[in-house]
Amino acid sequence: MLNRRKFISRSAITSLSVLFGTQLLKNKSYASTTPGNGEGTKPLVISTWRHGIPANEEAMRVIMEGGRAVEAVEAGVRVPEGDPDNMSVGLGGLPDRDGKVTLDASIMDETGNCGSVCFLEHIVHPISVARLVMDNTPHIMLAGEGALQFALENGFKKENLLTPKAKKAWEEWKKKAKYEPVPNIENHDTIGMLAIDQKGNLSGACTTSGLAYKIRGRVGDSPIIGAGLYVDNNVGGATATGTGELVIRTVGSFLIVELMRNGYTPQAACEEAVRRIANANIPDIHKHQVGYIAVNKAGETGAYCLKPGFNYALFVNGKNELVDSDNYFK
Ligand code: ASP
Repeated sequence: MLNRRKFISRSAITSLSVLFGTQLLKNKSYASTTPGNGEGTKPLVISTWRHGIPANEEAMRVIMEGGRAVEAVEAGVRVPEGDPDNMSVGLGGLPDRDGKVTLDASIMDETGNCGSVCFLEHIVHPISVARLVMDNTPHIMLAGEGALQFALENGFKKENLLTPKAKKAWEEWKKKAKYEPVPNIENHDTIGMLAIDQKGNLSGACTTSGLAYKIRGRVGDSPIIGAGLYVDNNVGGATATGTGELVIRTVGSFLIVELMRNGYTPQAACEEAVRRIANANIPDIHKHQVGYIAVNKAGETGAYCLKPGFNYALFVNGKNELVDSDNYFK
């Protein structure tokens, strides 16, 4: 009979092998039956939703000028962050239920360095604050007032992020004030971006104003390394959009990268991560959307989502195109 100690260490080894893939290695046939939808060409930029098109444009410009992937993803996602007409990222983002725009962002480079900010107010470019946290501090995540103080001390300007358009939408919402997650409102939510530069190095960025009309103080998946974004330069990267709570509880982006480490194509890995959510007994799962995009070191890409409506922008071989993702609930 196993004594308790042996039992615990055996089950720990089993769970670790499930998590990190010894089990998955036995399952390679699954990986090879689902092809990636990229050609494996580099350099490459991929990002979530339609707002990924102009963002990719900027990121690829940086790469073609010889920039690092991390510089490219920062520059790329700054485009929707600075666009007042984009109601899900940065300036012009839809506010929380108290009418305050609060932002989450994260960035990860080819060395595994990462930085993030969450519950940040008044700063148009949270991704650049996240990058400074990564580059200039011994920490990974700064939150709320502390993140704002850090940004102001580093020369960022305090601005009003609530545009008249977003304020009007919030005032309409207040009339009913029914608290429900509102994913997919305008078919352009969080921007998550992954890039491979001319040296073949990978980086990623993710930035959002989060779920519209969230409870004040709510933080989503986007600033959480491993949930909304994960990059391993030896393997690949993944990023998420949609109901952050579902991504956090399944540690989605880390899961995708670990699956790829164990032989899954980016496409098969995204499908498995979505399947985990679909099978997690979540009430009203059909009301939610989660979309993932992924790329591996070879430049193959994948994407998958819970329900129809998610698309992503892929810039490769000189073409920057919007692609519809396949989905789990048909
Ligand atoms: N993932 C984001 C969050 O939960 C929102 C979104 O992408 O729609 O904050």
